Amino acid sequence: MSDVSIGIDVGGTKALALIVARDGRVLGEVKSKTPHDARHAAGEATAAVLTDQIEQLAKMHGLKVASVPVGIGLPGLMRRDGHLAFAPNLQSASGADLGALLGVALGSSKVFCENDANCAALAEHEWGAGRGIEDFVMVTLGTGIGGGVIADGQLVRGRSGFAGEIGHMVVQAHGAPCLCGGHGCWERYASGGGLGRLTREAALEGRLATLVSRRGNPEDVTAEDVTAAAAEGLEEALTLVREVGWWLALGLSNLAAILDCGHFVIGGGLSSASDLVLPFAREYLVDLVEGYDARPTITVTTSMFGPRSGAMGAALVAFERNS
Ligand SMILES: [Zn+2]
Repeated sequence: MSDVSIGIDVGGTKALALIVARDGRVLGEVKSKTPHDARHAAGEATAAVLTDQIEQLAKMHGLKVASVPVGIGLPGLMRRDGHLAFAPNLQSASGADLGALLGVALGSSKVFCENDANCAALAEHEWGAGRGIEDFVMVTLGTGIGGGVIADGQLVRGRSGFAGEIGHMVVQAHGAPCLCGGHGCWERYASGGGLGRLTREAALEGRLATLVSRRGNPEDVTAEDVTAAAAEGLEEALTLVREVGWWLALGLSNLAAILDCGHFVIGGGLSSASDLVLPFAREYLVDLVEGYDARPTITVTTSMFGPRSGAMGAALVAFERNS
């Protein structure tokens, strides 16, 4: 048994690698840009970056790479056998078996892969905002929306390992196109990417006049401009944040209807804007959830580990599968 493990959360823009103790303490971290170089075989460019991160962390802590269990959290459909079957936000690694590639590069048999949001759910359940809660859904708001479902205290994996792809739940028939090939997916409305898309749309339609005049061009207004202005109380920005809160609540109410989960943990890169969005989402849930008053209270909280949940959960997966 190892006292430490390495967990890496591979996102669409960056890979965060942490070395973690068994009690969840983070002992070190390395951040890198996620490569999207499709000239090599699937996953090779990603594997090279992750190998470098693992070697750096092992060296910093005086460990041999082959002796440390490693967990990798990946976005998209992760098969139970470790293949990343489909990854719209990481297309250069789609189809790859990153565990096998890293195993060869590191000379290690201790590399384990899992869906990134499942990792986040496991970390929050073990150490964070989902501790002691047997039924909750982890919702990670980043470029897209990831999901990890904990039911009766266990991660729901589904037939192939693909359960919890909540970002591609359709919330608007014939709506905005999605990288998955579908239309109207929840992540096109309620994620960081969704806020960016709604911002562009609102700026072009003249609904963000103050922000457009500050930037000089509707195309230049960003999601960050909207959240900063909303925090200062600018009405037009608050209206857009309220809209995102409604879309978030719509998806949560669908999940509550299907799963009867009483608790949602919101994490991911949009977490920093969560303080603004979540009060609106909670308000709308009351109307959107079927029989809201007949149910025990539904709670929506932010994750305890923010953008670190995925990497911490990947480290937890490494501990559990290596034992
Ligand atoms: Zn989609």
